[in-house]
Amino acid sequence: MLDALDRRIEDKRQDLVALTQDLIRIPTINPPGDAYVQCAEYIGNRLARRGFEIAYIRGQDTPGDSDRYPRTNVIARREGGKPGSCVHFNGHIDVVEVGRGWTVDPFAGIVRDGKVFGRGACDMKGGIAAAIIAVEALIELAPDLAGAIEISGTVDEESGGLGGVAYLARQGYFSKPRVDHVIIPEPLNKERICLGHRGVWWAEIETHGSIAHGSMPFLGDCAVRHMGAVIDRFEAELFPLLASKHTDMPVVPEGARSSTLNINSIHGGQPEDFDGLPSPCVPDSCRMVIDRRFLIEEDIGEVKDEVVRLLNRLAAERPRFSYSVRDLLEVLPTMTERDAPVVKAVASGIEAVLGQRPDYVISPGSYDQKHIARIGHLHDCIAYGPGILDIAHRPDEFVVIDDMVASAKVMARATLALLTGGKAAPEANGKGRAS
Ligand SMILES: [Zn+2]
Repeated sequence: MLDALDRRIEDKRQDLVALTQDLIRIPTINPPGDAYVQCAEYIGNRLARRGFEIAYIRGQDTPGDSDRYPRTNVIARREGGKPGSCVHFNGHIDVVEVGRGWTVDPFAGIVRDGKVFGRGACDMKGGIAAAIIAVEALIELAPDLAGAIEISGTVDEESGGLGGVAYLARQGYFSKPRVDHVIIPEPLNKERICLGHRGVWWAEIETHGSIAHGSMPFLGDCAVRHMGAVIDRFEAELFPLLASKHTDMPVVPEGARSSTLNINSIHGGQPEDFDGLPSPCVPDSCRMVIDRRFLIEEDIGEVKDEVVRLLNRLAAERPRFSYSVRDLLEVLPTMTERDAPVVKAVASGIEAVLGQRPDYVISPGSYDQKHIARIGHLHDCIAYGPGILDIAHRPDEFVVIDDMVASAKVMARATLALLTGGKAAPEANGKGRAS
């Protein structure tokens, strides 16, 4: 069975390439959320022909949703021969903007040197295509497997996933008893299993001043100078503190095994989108957005307190300093256990197909697993897919065809093992135990 499955996937190599090209040619750029309906229907139509029941679910009234740019998701479900568990493959259909520096057409799906090129090739239309081919090969060979298989194409992952996986999770699409195991074929490299991600705290810090004529700044109080004092404190105290915190989470790249903070933006004074001459004013407000990524060993309350304590110390020492902090986004770190069923099934598949032990990694940034864990309360979830992590969002993005084929084999074996309780995959399990 397993050899037949591998051969069937090899036979589908051309189909896999063509499917990846077709998906790349639908330019689902987010923002604004172009061509979502077209892409969702492309996936839905294909899977409907293979006996899946198709549902289109619009993330009504979620950020960016409008009649012009509907946040349309597709979920395809196929029931097997008898009741059993459900394996779900979830891929986001949105891609980021093109950016500069391309030497090929980003939406042509060009094939060259064993790679498919295009925006989204790696992140993550190649992964969606590999999952679809894996599932199609499996159901051709074993149409009466127990349980169910689902494939979803969801929107807005690149902008937080609120109209996509978060919306669907709220409706119960990512919870038991409907779904038991989830694989997200994000580009984490074909030999890596991504167990989860670090936590996120986005916040806006505002410093307050008072407005006055710019020729007599001593009559006012400059909020931008107060913000400068905040940044000085960050440099002297906060950044060294964060760099000193290390995690046991296997985060890649290694630099992300410490806590990090990015200053996302600073705005103070005259609005930026105004191209006339400014009027002379002392700015009475300056706002800074911070993007703090934290570790599973850290508590989110403590993460926030570090910043608040620093600001309070500054307020005690610096005349007229006052501030406010506004939370923008919180995501707790998540890490699936290594002995969870989906992890063991994919690990066995990697050992059998690639002949090596998997690397277990944690993503530096968050992805849709957060919604599945927090809203769906489903913890048997990982990211596993063919793309190369470093290629995501870059010019001349590509996915290696051999990697897609290999990861499709891994996904098919893992699905078979999960739906049969491992009974149909004795070799894979044997190797898994030996390690
Ligand atoms: Zn992605």
